[in-house]
Amino acid sequence: MKILSLAQKEYLNSIIREVADFPKPGILFKDITTLLGDAKAFEFLMEHLYDRYKDKNLDYIVGIESRGFIFGATLANKLGVGFVPARKPNKLPYTTISQKYSLEYGIDELQMHIDAFGNKPGANVLLIDDLIATGGTAKAACEMISKLGANLIELAFIIDIGIGGIQELESYGPIYVVLGD
Ligand code: AMP
Repeated sequence: MKILSLAQKEYLNSIIREVADFPKPGILFKDITTLLGDAKAFEFLMEHLYDRYKDKNLDYIVGIESRGFIFGATLANKLGVGFVPARKPNKLPYTTISQKYSLEYGIDELQMHIDAFGNKPGANVLLIDDLIATGGTAKAACEMISKLGANLIELAFIIDIGIGGIQELESYGPIYVVLGD
């Protein structure tokens, strides 16, 4: 696999903007728009992910709304596999399955189309999002991928903020964090 050099990792870390107290006090928001706006950084990040997954026999990539769509759809297109969005409630027009999950205050929900994997049992799926925090959002997506009969090959994130999300998700499959250790 094409390994990211230390210099490339440092560059990616430096290009992701940190915004304090967004969207609420106490949150240090990792803003990946500054990475997306840097053509060189976005390109070598996607090349790295392409290289990691090109021989994994994937059928679909599931991206979590909304930043997971950007990385997921770009990677799916490079790999020549389908892209499936896991969306916030009442956005998908056809019949959906839903999974609720807990937030710090309250409950949220993700939905996927019932035929997202073409009714093909055992489709090989990669789940991707920009960042893992508590792991609750990705867990909801994993539950739906499982209910739809697909085979979760790996969970991929660009950033882990180190608050226990990885441990929450370990039972669903291997986890890869680009800017991990
Ligand atoms: P969680 O379900 O707690 O793992 O939260 C992950 C989701 O919330 C991802 O879709 C992230 O994009 C978003 N998120 C959570 N915390 C942050 C943060 N500090 N900076 C940017 N996005 C975040």
